[in-house]
Amino acid sequence: MRRYDLIVIGGGSGGVRAARVAATQGAKVLLAEESRVGGTCVIRGCVPKKLMVLASRVGMEMQDGRGFGWTFDAARFSWPDLKSNVDAELDRLEHAYATALSRAGVHTEASRAELLGGGCVKLCSTGERISGERILVATGATPINDDDLIGRSLCATSDDFFNWTTQPRRVVVQGAGYIALELACLLARLGSEVSVVFRADHILRGFDQELREHLQAELAAAGIRLVPRATLTAIQRDGQGLSATLSDASVITTDAIIRAIGRRPNTRGLGLARAGVTTDDRDAIVVDDDFQTSARGIYAVGDVTNRIQLTPMAIREGHVFAETVYAGRARSALPSIVPTAVFTTPELATVGQTEAEAVAWHEHVDVYSTQFRPMKATLSGRAGKCFMKLIVKRADDRILGAHLVGPDAGEMIQLLGVAITMGARKGDLDATLAVHPTGAEEWVTMRTPTRRHGRSEAA
Ligand code: FAD
Repeated sequence: MRRYDLIVIGGGSGGVRAARVAATQGAKVLLAEESRVGGTCVIRGCVPKKLMVLASRVGMEMQDGRGFGWTFDAARFSWPDLKSNVDAELDRLEHAYATALSRAGVHTEASRAELLGGGCVKLCSTGERISGERILVATGATPINDDDLIGRSLCATSDDFFNWTTQPRRVVVQGAGYIALELACLLARLGSEVSVVFRADHILRGFDQELREHLQAELAAAGIRLVPRATLTAIQRDGQGLSATLSDASVITTDAIIRAIGRRPNTRGLGLARAGVTTDDRDAIVVDDDFQTSARGIYAVGDVTNRIQLTPMAIREGHVFAETVYAGRARSALPSIVPTAVFTTPELATVGQTEAEAVAWHEHVDVYSTQFRPMKATLSGRAGKCFMKLIVKRADDRILGAHLVGPDAGEMIQLLGVAITMGARKGDLDATLAVHPTGAEEWVTMRTPTRRHGRSEAA
């Protein structure tokens, strides 16, 4: 039987990083990947999504160009051309990941792997059993579409979306999380008629309430039909295309339906019970602070643990795991401050506590906010406003959160994330000289609180 120091199951963000770092430290590592190396982020997530978002903004730029004296004749968008260019880039990235693994000395098997217990793993492509001193499960998550919705097989998930060879004229998106909205938005900007059906009153559960309301209004103004407080109850194919019946008995006729109602950890059929690995009621692998599962020698990182399902977190977890075990470094803490962006158009980005969270945690909280028309809109005539908001703890002036909707929000929040992770205070922003004329200068020029929470001035 082949023996390894580490067997990694899953070649996505977390698995690839862990395998590379462990191998670089001299460990004998095997990585098994059942689909394509790179995983969700590279093949069916962040990367193709962002490329398509960028594509969807080109038409807007051309429209905006008119106000700046430009004219464009006979502009035409080709979905097949975009798809083939995106696919070529994904092939290039997949190859780059595979090369980096092999240069680090990782042996990669193009196979599904399952746990057998007793430190053994089965490679399903050949049936071979291999053994590992340690096993790392990094199998990610998968879109949910196995509930009792009638006609759900007629619906697509985000995985299917990235394989579409033609652009549907009409699309219904179910869900109001970031994946649902990003796909809805990019399709709408590329010319599809898009309806978004979701259960709640507002999109993006868990984000700052004012931001949710602001973005919701912006998306509606951009022509996306938002259908709150509703769910899909049945899907049928008829002569017109697909009929989606909603919980209020209304029917939307469409050409495609994307369900983006959540992602389930990829743990089914993995042999976890056989190997003594405990999962929770949402199928996620339960781990401790050292990524150790309930079975000795078996670890898990990334989306399969269903904590913060973001690429940088999976990468960080894979890195920390491998450095701690194979480089003998003391375990570094995972970041508690998580900057993140939603790549709708306009973008939304956020770091730290929402206003509601801050008020629940701290007695005295000041909120600074501003809304303004981006400079570009003065000539382009495009409607819509930027919205920025800072949440500050009055007792020590610390910035607890920063939230915004507007162009380049993702780029801005990355840098604010540095400041807030370093413990920046509102006074630090006040002391920073503005860069003029930019949208970002508003972060350092907000002087008067919009709201003050807490009765007394002293905290
Ligand atoms: P994955 O990257 O999913 O990798 C798991 C791998 O394991 C897969 O390649 C899978 O094929 C393989 N596998 C599964 N089971 C087995 C098995 N039994 N044997 C062998 N191989 C197996 N995050 C961001 O930070 N920013 C974004 O903008 C962003 N956009 C996203 C957009 C979409 C549409 C989606 C779906 C996700 C997005 N994410 C984004 C989330 C991000 O992609 C994930 O958080 C990240 O990929 C998780 O990494 P992972 O290593 O845990 O799992």
